[in-house]
Amino acid sequence: MKNVMKVVTTSFAVAMLLTGCSEKSNTAAQDYKLSNVTFPLKEKVTLHFITQSSPLAPADPNKKLIYQRLEKETGVKIDFKNYTSDSFKEKRNLAMASGELPDAILDAGYSDYELLKLAKDGAIVPVEDLIEKYMPNLKKVLQEAPEYKSMITAPDGHIYSFPWIEELGTGKERIQSVDDTPWINKEWLNKLGLKMPTTTDELEKVLIAFKTKDPNGNGKADEIPMSFVNNHGGEDMSFLFGSFGLGDNGDHTVVSNDGKVINTAAQDGYKEGVKFLNKLYKEKLIDVEAFQQDWNTYLSKGKDNRYGLYFTWDKANITGMNDKYDLMGPLAGPNGQVNVTRTNGMGFDRGRMVISSANKNLELTAKWIDKLYDPLQSVQDNWGTYGDKNQQNIFEYDESKKMLKHLPLDGAAPVEIRQKTNIGGPLAILDEYYGKVTTKPDDAAWRLDLLKKVMMPHMTAENTYPNVFFSLQELDKLSSIETNMNAYIDRKRAEWIANGKADQEWGAYLKELDRLGLQEWLKIKQSGYDRTKK
Ligand code: CA
Repeated sequence: MKNVMKVVTTSFAVAMLLTGCSEKSNTAAQDYKLSNVTFPLKEKVTLHFITQSSPLAPADPNKKLIYQRLEKETGVKIDFKNYTSDSFKEKRNLAMASGELPDAILDAGYSDYELLKLAKDGAIVPVEDLIEKYMPNLKKVLQEAPEYKSMITAPDGHIYSFPWIEELGTGKERIQSVDDTPWINKEWLNKLGLKMPTTTDELEKVLIAFKTKDPNGNGKADEIPMSFVNNHGGEDMSFLFGSFGLGDNGDHTVVSNDGKVINTAAQDGYKEGVKFLNKLYKEKLIDVEAFQQDWNTYLSKGKDNRYGLYFTWDKANITGMNDKYDLMGPLAGPNGQVNVTRTNGMGFDRGRMVISSANKNLELTAKWIDKLYDPLQSVQDNWGTYGDKNQQNIFEYDESKKMLKHLPLDGAAPVEIRQKTNIGGPLAILDEYYGKVTTKPDDAAWRLDLLKKVMMPHMTAENTYPNVFFSLQELDKLSSIETNMNAYIDRKRAEWIANGKADQEWGAYLKELDRLGLQEWLKIKQSGYDRTKK
């Protein structure tokens, strides 16, 4: 009797568990028992995805032409739980924590830390075997550009997510190579009979002339010789540090030509850069608002053409696509050195799509995701599609050349058309696709061309720091060091530019960086670099 009871209790518990489970994971599709899948399927099936989209896009992603075409080509209907980008992360986390796992999350937006946690908790599955067996398009990308294979592989050797790869130029010619590009007021230079500065001394003289000689001709000293937004990526002025050594970039990380990782903010040249800016500051050549202003304040003065020199990714966003401002090249410093410091930015995001452990149709799901990596499809995933009768199109499709061509925007904001019509999820656009599969977006082509002429010949560094997939332990350590160390670096730079004293305080500053963990930071970054490069 006792035994029977036990059996009954156990089966009851198992049954409860199963019910609980199936209730909890009822957002994932049933097992369709499909193998040797080819598209389109003879009988339509449904997969359940969580995704995000812009508030400008249709609330139901299946209203987008690009998804309608995919459904037709595959015979797979995607049942979406779609959240707008602003609340996506919170909703995604709630869904995953509740155990109501979808089949997959598309445009997942996961950080490395989150990916590794989900993998550890068994909420997402490793996908390297799926790539090998079922994903010829992605496999081809990884063969043609093998650096991405090491970048998507976790320290434990597994791949847990499908990446987003958008190349615009490669190597030094990568569009991200310089983000805080300097734009100088050409009208003012012409008006005052000045030449484009080529040294730091010449720049100082030009800025003084902007300040004192009323180049806008209104009788008032209302010109702002130089402005920037402190520590704000593309709007920061760290470009100027290149005249004094290794220079600086947004993550203070460069790699020497023999593969040594270096923190730029602990180099003597960095101190010289700070001293140069302090000199400009004392001469009142720097915008008094540079250390506090937000984007909108920066923008409004820019639109009024009050800047002599300012920094941003693309002048079109601040002073417009006109001839008033020119890209200023790198300046020779006091030692005659010219150097453009490369950033470590690239068009790459590791955690763009994951498959949940509730997914019972792995082959089908992998083959569907692989469609997104077809070159022609990838271009549309990223930027939007063609032939939509209800909506402005970003492309036209040349059937004979099998090529997508960017259409004129007619004043529309490219970002808005993209957000209304694209997918954004996992995809790969390699540089070699341009001219074959698609044309380049006009704004990117224009910027790349300028960088190639003005900046790239002066990039002395052969290496950049790659997008390393660190372990959970390394990420914990790096983030705890960086929280304090980078805040200290930022604070001292601002202080020294405003008040001087960089020389007097330099020794104490270096000691404090070590106390905050600089040496351990270098060790972790170096080992990440070495294993990614091997
Ligand atoms: Ca004036």
